[in-house]
Amino acid sequence: MNRVLSVFEQELVKEAIFQEPDLSDLEKTKYLEQSKKLCVIEECDCGDPYCYSVKYSGYEVGTSLGFADGILFRGTDKEMRVILFLNSRTGEISELETAK
Ligand SMILES: [Zn+2]
Repeated sequence: MNRVLSVFEQELVKEAIFQEPDLSDLEKTKYLEQSKKLCVIEECDCGDPYCYSVKYSGYEVGTSLGFADGILFRGTDKEMRVILFLNSRTGEISELETAK
């Protein structure tokens, strides 16, 4: 698999970055720029229709480091936590995880 992100997936990435208090404005800008070039290489197969967990082309086993975190609404009214991970070796955004 190698596909671009849907509009909704781009929104999830943006929100997680915007909502993360530990990122400076400069870092937020950097990651938002990087997020425009993301490619999905693997989707979660848990079967939950509201799961949007994916791996991006920057993913490498054993390098994932959580760096941005936000709360969004999934569907109509249910909260969803969105966590973004970096590849700690290359600094690339490597994974997105959603959780109830
Ligand atoms: Zn899943």
